[in-house]
Amino acid sequence: KEREGCGDVVGPWEFIPLFFVPQDVEYIFGIVGIPVTEIAIAAQQLGIKYIGMRNEQAEHVCAKEKDVVGWTRLCLIRSFAEERQGRKRTAAQEKSRALVQLLKRAIKPGVCLVVSGPGLIHALGGMANANMNCWPLLMIGGSSERNQETMGAFQEFPQVEACRLYTKFSARPSSIEAIPFVIEKAVRTSIYGRPGACYVDIPADFVNLQVNVNSIKYTECCMSPPISMAETSAVRMAASVIRNAKQPLLIIGKGAAYAHAEENIKKLVEQYKLPFLPTPMGKGVVPDNHPNCVGAARSRALQFADVIVLFGARLNWILHFGLPPRYQPDVKFIQVDICAEELGNNVKPAVTLLGDISAVSKQLLEELDKTSWEYPPESKWWKTLREKMKSNEAASKELASKKSLPMNYYTVFYHIQEQLPRDCFVVSEGANTMDIGRTVLQNYLPRHRLDAGSFGTMGVGLGFAIAAAMVAKDRSPRQRVICVEGDSAFGFSGMEVETICRYNLPIILLVVNNNGIYQGFDMDAWKETLKFRDPTAVVPPMCLLPNSHYEQVMTAFGGKGYFVETPEELQKSLRQSLADTSKPSLINIMIEPQATRKAQAGHFLPPYGSV
Ligand code: ADP
Ligand code: MG
Repeated sequence: KEREGCGDVVGPWEFIPLFFVPQDVEYIFGIVGIPVTEIAIAAQQLGIKYIGMRNEQAEHVCAKEKDVVGWTRLCLIRSFAEERQGRKRTAAQEKSRALVQLLKRAIKPGVCLVVSGPGLIHALGGMANANMNCWPLLMIGGSSERNQETMGAFQEFPQVEACRLYTKFSARPSSIEAIPFVIEKAVRTSIYGRPGACYVDIPADFVNLQVNVNSIKYTECCMSPPISMAETSAVRMAASVIRNAKQPLLIIGKGAAYAHAEENIKKLVEQYKLPFLPTPMGKGVVPDNHPNCVGAARSRALQFADVIVLFGARLNWILHFGLPPRYQPDVKFIQVDICAEELGNNVKPAVTLLGDISAVSKQLLEELDKTSWEYPPESKWWKTLREKMKSNEAASKELASKKSLPMNYYTVFYHIQEQLPRDCFVVSEGANTMDIGRTVLQNYLPRHRLDAGSFGTMGVGLGFAIAAAMVAKDRSPRQRVICVEGDSAFGFSGMEVETICRYNLPIILLVVNNNGIYQGFDMDAWKETLKFRDPTAVVPPMCLLPNSHYEQVMTAFGGKGYFVETPEELQKSLRQSLADTSKPSLINIMIEPQATRKAQAGHFLPPYGSV
């Protein structure tokens, strides 16, 4: 606006970030180079925060995650403001407030900026990851000059076509004037319906051209996504199926977390005394330590439930496709999802509730409220589930109490859990590290757990942690991001430790180090391999260099590093890391290289999430 009327003719690179402002963009994650450096500089001048990453893979997962945690923050700010008013509301005010909250729920895409060709290609993994997880992402890619197309221009690549497979929308604006419209469309597409990734291509000649400021028009940000509700007859039918269930189960997926449905779902659980099971990133919608959480009897709950209500969770590999032997052949699924195409995938559901989870769970509450029904808390089903939880928890605790060294996974996680702050973000990846960690590390708040997700992507942890830290940092000087990494997972984006130190982010990295992928060699076994002339013929593909000092990656950039081998050293270093808010830290935790999860009942694929 300041520039308007001044008659200047300037490079549009100064304007491109301006198009983000009406879209309410607060952060851009990126790696600069030709032709986008100027865009990043101009964005900073406009007050947009720019986070420079080291590798596009980490950057993209990072921005994607930023949205997710970004939503949390906006909601929190609003509820703090309301609390501060501290006035009593009438029933009518309460109702309109609930509606306003629903409509104003803040959803924004994370924004990434990458260079042409290889930069964009590195970003495809992150885009795919965001899209697979139904997360809103806006990727902006520089590309080569249009008048050099097909001539072998610098980093020339068919970027719009390449992104099509990984996005909901991929386009290049036809002119500079069209940029704001295309950006608005990309933002809107990323958050409307089932959220996902979008790509906007900015050719180098757009960045370098001269334009008249008066020819530039801005496009306002779209309204929040419209809230859709389920058909009333379907809601009635769902309530009747739930009331007649003998062995009911609610599954809370990450869709419920992103829909901000925590209040209504908690009411459903508590008012009707229903058992619930969170998916990995559904953890925290209702706290893990809630008495109705049957996470510790996951396999049992899935296998014998006769009615399952799915709140924003797909029946994909994470939920064993909803099929026997993990489920009863005649289990009745009630599917709640915002995406019609998802309904009926892999199973024939008893009832489908198409709509926003927050709105639909409210509809369900109202329908169930019409009678005085509740699920009997002394039922045989509850008894079976409680017994199974008790025995599973006892088995984990027994493993955790083992005094032998090197430590096993359970010992490590129980010690971490003891000190885990209730409000921290828990980021986790790595095969065993993530799977076993999830069963021990508790989440008490929604949208505070981030992991390899629907696409099983490794290498996302540090990017997630950086994005979550941006939120934590603004909220409270003490809020932490605890990032629990396997040693192999850490390696994918290890150089992002420099990013963490550059911005001095409130992150504690825990590298659970077993010298390998799934499992590794101890030092003695390793030395044997070195006797061979050609180690490439004998070193098992899963092995990484034993006793690697990953903590030195952190000290190299000025953070705190700890190498720990005993429970006492782990306790002490974690206590120190939590107490010292001035620096990020990395604790390299040596565990038994052959350590694994405890024995499973039955042989099921995939391993993800079984207790
Ligand atoms: P999980 O990994 O927790 O099992 P999935 O990613 O498989 O979760 O499923 C999440 C589902 O939630 C997707 O099918 C998506 O369409 C749905 N979803 C996302 N946001 C909403 C919303 N606001 N309301 C309803 N469903 C949603
Ligand atoms: Mg490992």
